[in-house]
Amino acid sequence: MTKILIVEDEAGLRQGLEINLRHENYDTATAADGEEAIRLYHAEQPDLVLLDLMLPKKSGFEVLDHIRKVSKVPVILLTARGQETDKVRGLRSGADDYVTKPFGVQELFARIDAVMRRSDVVTQAKAVCEDQLIRLDPSTREAHAANQKLKLSPKEFDLLMYLFKNKERVVPRDELLSRVWNYRVDLNLNSRTVDTHVTRLRRKLQKAVGTDAAVIVAVAKIGYRYLGQASAMVHS
Ligand code: CA
Repeated sequence: MTKILIVEDEAGLRQGLEINLRHENYDTATAADGEEAIRLYHAEQPDLVLLDLMLPKKSGFEVLDHIRKVSKVPVILLTARGQETDKVRGLRSGADDYVTKPFGVQELFARIDAVMRRSDVVTQAKAVCEDQLIRLDPSTREAHAANQKLKLSPKEFDLLMYLFKNKERVVPRDELLSRVWNYRVDLNLNSRTVDTHVTRLRRKLQKAVGTDAAVIVAVAKIGYRYLGQASAMVHS
């Protein structure tokens, strides 16, 4: 049974969410402030967190930061209308999605389903990815290229893994934003985020591989593709 931690200080909304989620056969735990949210997160080990941002004691952002230091549990923000910058900040801080109050329960259920599906994809993807050039171990998050250990940031690791798994095609920037960063494309976030990360990742790969040939190629106006050893492998 999927357990959802509901963090919301408005009693009416909190109870309404609890009733609706239980009706849909979710197990629930509820917190009315940020401190209780952190305590219950550890005590209840929920599968998903619904997180209001404006909370007593600790803000939703502080709760999110705390959770992200210890876990990749899916987090959906409950935001108020007009808090556009908060949504962006929340997504950049690692939230998976948001709903804007007032929202219908059907929309919320749909978002929960979508986020849980993505999270299943991530947790099931524990197999080591390997070719002659790189080796990526999702369980330890260790990356090697040409038998050298790479120091990758978590996003660089996820990015390389995603490109590797889709190496038969060019992956559009929008797709990388939504699948690696979990951004919703309708937020119109800057795709330069992707470019910056790819540039850093390529630099690290090329340093390890010791060649000027591209391991990851940019395809103009579309996105990126992992080429791997086919064009890049140069043994010294
Ligand atoms: Ca609130």
